[in-house]
Amino acid sequence: MADLGGGVRFFGPGDLRFLKLHFAYEHLGIATKQCQHIFLTPDALKPLSIAAENRSEKDMTNISKEKIENLKSKVKGQIVLPSDSSYDEVRQIWNAMIERRPALIVRCAEADDVPPAIAFARENGLEISIRGAGHNIAGNALCDNGLMIDFSTMRDVRVDAEKKRAYVEPGATLADFDEAAQSHGLATPVGINSTTGIAGLTLGGGFGWLTRKYGMTVDNLISVDAVTADGKRIRASENENADLFWAIRGGGGNFAVVTQFEFKLHEVGPEILAGLIVFPFDEAKQVLTKYREFVKSAPEELNVWAIMRKAPPLPFLAGDVHGKEVVVLVTFYIGDAAQGRKLIEPLLRFGTPHGEHIGTQPYTQWQKAFDPLLTPGARNYWKSHNFTELSDGALNTMIEFAGKLPSPQCEIFIALISGAANRVPENAMAYRHRDPKFVLNVHGRWDERTDDEGCIAWARAFFQASAPYASEGAYVNFMTEEEGDRVAAAYGANYDRLAQIKKEYDPENLFHLNQNIKPLL
Ligand SMILES: Cc1cc2nc3c(=O)[nH]c(=O)nc-3n(C[C@H](O)[C@H](O)[C@H](O)COP(=O)(O)OP(=O)(O)OC[C@H]3O[C@@H](n4cnc5c(N)ncnc54)[C@H](O)[C@@H]3O)c2cc1C
Repeated sequence: MADLGGGVRFFGPGDLRFLKLHFAYEHLGIATKQCQHIFLTPDALKPLSIAAENRSEKDMTNISKEKIENLKSKVKGQIVLPSDSSYDEVRQIWNAMIERRPALIVRCAEADDVPPAIAFARENGLEISIRGAGHNIAGNALCDNGLMIDFSTMRDVRVDAEKKRAYVEPGATLADFDEAAQSHGLATPVGINSTTGIAGLTLGGGFGWLTRKYGMTVDNLISVDAVTADGKRIRASENENADLFWAIRGGGGNFAVVTQFEFKLHEVGPEILAGLIVFPFDEAKQVLTKYREFVKSAPEELNVWAIMRKAPPLPFLAGDVHGKEVVVLVTFYIGDAAQGRKLIEPLLRFGTPHGEHIGTQPYTQWQKAFDPLLTPGARNYWKSHNFTELSDGALNTMIEFAGKLPSPQCEIFIALISGAANRVPENAMAYRHRDPKFVLNVHGRWDERTDDEGCIAWARAFFQASAPYASEGAYVNFMTEEEGDRVAAAYGANYDRLAQIKKEYDPENLFHLNQNIKPLL
């Protein structure tokens, strides 16, 4: 039994779910505690820990010791092999559904480690996977019997406050980025879970609380340093290799291995106004109908997302609400707090709230508010649609499926994007979804393998039932590994140009472990 402080005791694996919820409310109720205990519980990590005796023969790809030693002499970083004691830990990714075993992992220490890693994979006929922070739901960061380029030890973020620029290594998490930028009162739009990687998020598009005001993450990208499939180190920006820069902004890891991102920064915070309003589930239709009207005229400094899930044990909710289905409006405002409160106040009258908790807090703290609900090690299956509007049919379907959540961790998320993200032309870069106002995330999440079937079936059925109300396209960053047939839809009219650029930069499709864009024939 471990004492986690604050009167919380950890008795065994069965308490894990309670603990996640406990720490969730600490954070959402304006946090004072850290939650590293949860990240480290062996129970959470179990699904990926395969005992040495169970490792299959196919792990042992036929690569000679000499070749490995030769590669070691060319890279500054570490080479991790299946026989190494750190191997299982190093190959962990966020989604425990994904179980793959690379033949070797090159833990890059610097950009110069990438060309020899690519050359090694080519010479030995190995597939290449690339890992930023390993958050992607599809798990393409991990390969079976191939070479994994792992950036998780390259996390440096350098900020030039005068120029309002950040120079970011590809293993940086959103927390690394936010902390460095906020130390100068600066930020750029990124996602809402601080352990997500800046690399994958940016390459697929990227949106979060600041998106209405400052656009998608990718709209704030100034340049990248990258290594191409033939091992060349190049820079891409509006002025240099502009076609590659166009493709990289939304085209995922298809075109090159990015070794540095340069971002534009904006003045944000450091204090922002944010929090939750929790309504009874039987008021869902009324709340969501009013929500969709409200956001049409809300200023871009204000963002409001809607979530339907079972209530965590939040301290501002009565005990009998915990564990019951609720509708949550999540509010975020940058600007004068008194003005923000006035803007948010009408939301409280959308129904008869069970409770609310809205206050000023540091932007970096709010960026971590949802982390305890999104810890690594759980099983996750997501589906997603874009919406230009939330029709009655769409809302009814969401409410119907929120009424039959198959696990306490499953949720339905409606993210509001719109604003600045909608003002960029569709052909300005590979990421082209400039008309959706909302992104729906069907977030299937659970702990036990035995729940796979029920949770996946729920997510698929909901995805199908809500499809008639969705707008075209798809967000590649929310796609599972089985959704390759949605890639063309994700890029729409931009796909042909992407296939042309792919042919130019990666004609052999070396970088294919991703939501793959095939080179034009
Ligand atoms: C809990 C959670 C919350 C999320 N919240 C948001 C959100 O609020 N907003 C949002 O927009 N998205 C969100 N996402 C989606 C997120 O943007 C994607 O999962 C993204 O791919 C994660 O990036 P990563 O670097 O951690 O992933 P990884 O799994 O490491 O990488 C994903 C893919 O990106 C490519 N890649 C990674 N690094 C490089 C590189 N250096 N060079 C070339 N290619 C590379 C590879 O193809 C790789 O397979 C969330 C995901 C999770 C799991």
